[in-house]
Amino acid sequence: MRTIDKNKPVLVTGGAGYLASWIIKILLDDGLDVNATVRDPADSEKIAHLEELARTSRGRLRFFEADLLAKDSFDASLRDCELVIHTASPFFITGIKDPERELIQPAQAGTRNVLEAATRTATVKRVVLTSSVAALYGDNADISSTQGGIFTENDWNETSSEAHQPYSYSKTIAEKEAWKIAEGQSQWDLVVINPGWILGPSLTQRTDSMSIKTMLEFGNGTYKSGVPQLWTSIVDVRDVARAHVKAGFTPEARGRHILVSGERTLLDLALILRDKFGDDYPFPRREAPKSIFWLIAPLYGRTRKYVSLNVGIPIRFDNRYSQKDLGISYRPVEQTVQEHFQQIVDNGLLG
Ligand code: NAP
Repeated sequence: MRTIDKNKPVLVTGGAGYLASWIIKILLDDGLDVNATVRDPADSEKIAHLEELARTSRGRLRFFEADLLAKDSFDASLRDCELVIHTASPFFITGIKDPERELIQPAQAGTRNVLEAATRTATVKRVVLTSSVAALYGDNADISSTQGGIFTENDWNETSSEAHQPYSYSKTIAEKEAWKIAEGQSQWDLVVINPGWILGPSLTQRTDSMSIKTMLEFGNGTYKSGVPQLWTSIVDVRDVARAHVKAGFTPEARGRHILVSGERTLLDLALILRDKFGDDYPFPRREAPKSIFWLIAPLYGRTRKYVSLNVGIPIRFDNRYSQKDLGISYRPVEQTVQEHFQQIVDNGLLG
């Protein structure tokens, strides 16, 4: 049993990211001290929201410079920490020119660098890793090889590669690397969080997170002429952040945890938005035929193979273990999507 001393700082890697910012907020509000790594602590725009959070909460926040690809760069940030929450990993699914360099190396070598630094730090007792449902499956078509037509924590993505779904591949090999390193030592244990597509209000004004970019695209007319019939699994960023903190401080927490509130199509999301915001924004109104997306996929940075194996294929996730092991409950998808868009409007991000 790993009981974490709440008087010791918690390390959060990739601290200025969309998800990590919520994790840091919860920790600081609970009065804990946080060590946050960022690639560039001098980039005041990226960290201003965190400094503001620290000003108004009981916990103390310290920034450390660290890059996933620099072998020893996490050591200083780990000093005195018993708990490490490793969220940093590149997240983008289109516009990838060199998957090995842009995604796979930072995800896999980055995980190794952080976890090996944790082993070098005698105080570390637990590592919580942000993986993804992308480490469970590659394409929606993989649902046909599951037992009972539903993804569970027993599933591993066996269909992604550097050439096909490289982001999913990067998350899969990074999580495998983490389990391998965890099993090779006994100083700390590993708890893994596997979220679906994370949405919900952002604490940062950054728009480079994939989750925020896509929500912006719903409001700026990118999908005005139609969306593909694509099922995704949605979860609220605040619930994912809470799950990380529970995973850190629940001594008996074990294994992988699917975090999904519900499955929806892109058109379902548009209808949820129209329900609240009416016709004020050019939300998509219809699904365009799969054959059209198959033809134009390369123009949108997607392959035809991707369209064949994903569009029109429903998916389902079993989220019972996360509720039982971590004691979390899920916000409804409708609330998540509407509050995310409201935050985008309130922050003037749609111009
Ligand atoms: P994000 O806002 O883009 O955050 C990614 C973080 O990774 C940023 O803080 C970034 O640091 C850091 N990072 C990227 N490359 C790095 C490098 N070479 N060295 C150091 N740090 C690096 O995205 P997010 O959605 O919060 O993602 C956080 C985690 O959740 C990732 O592991 C992602 O795979 C996982 N996840 C996300 C979703 C989703 O739908 N958003 C779903 C499942 C899992 P800088 O601040 O310095 O740029």
